[in-house]
Amino acid sequence: MFQEIRRQARAFYPEAVAIRRRLHQYPELGWCEFASTALAAEKLRQLGFQVLTGPAVCPEGARMGLPPEADLEAAWRQARQEGAPEGELLPLRGGFTGVLAEFSHGPGPVAAFRCDLDALPLTEETGLPFASRHPGVMHACGHDGHTAMALGAAAILRNLSDAWSGTLKLIFQPAEEGVRGGRAVAESGFLDDVDFLLGAHIFGRGRPEGDCDLVPGAFGSLATTKLDAEFRGQASHAGSFPEQGRSVMPAMAAAVSALYGIPRHSGGASRVNVGRLEAGSGRNVTADWGRMELEVRGATTEINRYMEENARRILDGAAQMQGVSCRIQTAGGAPSVESSLPLCRRIQEVCRREFPDIRPTSYLQGPSEGSEDFSWLMERVKARGGQAAFPLLLADTAAPAHTPRFDFPEPVMQTGMTALAGVLYDILRK
Ligand SMILES: [Zn+2]
Ligand SMILES: [Zn+2]
Repeated sequence: MFQEIRRQARAFYPEAVAIRRRLHQYPELGWCEFASTALAAEKLRQLGFQVLTGPAVCPEGARMGLPPEADLEAAWRQARQEGAPEGELLPLRGGFTGVLAEFSHGPGPVAAFRCDLDALPLTEETGLPFASRHPGVMHACGHDGHTAMALGAAAILRNLSDAWSGTLKLIFQPAEEGVRGGRAVAESGFLDDVDFLLGAHIFGRGRPEGDCDLVPGAFGSLATTKLDAEFRGQASHAGSFPEQGRSVMPAMAAAVSALYGIPRHSGGASRVNVGRLEAGSGRNVTADWGRMELEVRGATTEINRYMEENARRILDGAAQMQGVSCRIQTAGGAPSVESSLPLCRRIQEVCRREFPDIRPTSYLQGPSEGSEDFSWLMERVKARGGQAAFPLLLADTAAPAHTPRFDFPEPVMQTGMTALAGVLYDILRK
């Protein structure tokens, strides 16, 4: 049967390439993945999955870091104009993107696979024939490949369903970038009966992995919180009546300096970054409004909490110092990724035993970069006694992720489909 999985992954590969290139040409930012959602939903319905879209995927109040209403509407209209099926698009309007799909096939375990749908606010510089047609938006993290692989694994397991018993669930998660969508999907409750949860990420090959193809599980990605701080003061004529104004400028400047001075934590790595500042209306007016986008990270959920508490206190304190107000909103966040060791071992064993051309690393867990909000889904499953793992699919990428020349070699999708369908089949087989 594993040979059949390998054969089917090879047969599906041209379609995976076509899907990936289509998504790559029409990339969509977080909560705006209207065409991508419609594409995935349509294919899953054709495969006979029960498909959920709309507010059932991400409950309304649980979505973090939503773009402005007007941006959501413009993106929705663009998807319709570019030919996404109207029937699929309707329930998504207003940023209700993402797909949950289920195929129940007799008694047995519940196995799930999650991929992510969104692209990044970058202008592509790859020069590829299928480069982005949306100015300023680019798939530079491989999520186009993840979505194509997930649809491939779904097709393979659906074709082979006579050989397994149980339930297969698929999650096409919106808004992974900025770690905004994971918590909402976890709160849908869709994962609450899942026994085994897999995710996957295409990952630039580094020195410790040598020429291996896969790290069975990631661990220790940084926990993170994204904050938006909005400052409000009082405008006045900067020359005639400066004493009547309350400027947000000195408050924001003091806050930035103090944020970079948060004492380091002895428990492990931490990060703080102020990534965007916007304030004031003109040279001769006391600035009465300002906005700051910042993030903190920590090696553990606890260290991240320490950083977040300090950041919130500094923002409030700096505002108070200047007699202005500061409203802080959480724009995203994720705990640290911790793969379950027994599931990592199973991934390694299935590859070694059944797919000798897919070489896993000798170690079960390796560090991933940055942060990843699949951790919300992993925590949800582990808290109910299930296992979760986040394998890294290693590839020689053209440039680092999140940069304008990023690209990955497409055959990694065949490796991914084979390994993922293989492990899911191993869990579900009769
Ligand atoms: Zn990314
Ligand atoms: Zn990513």
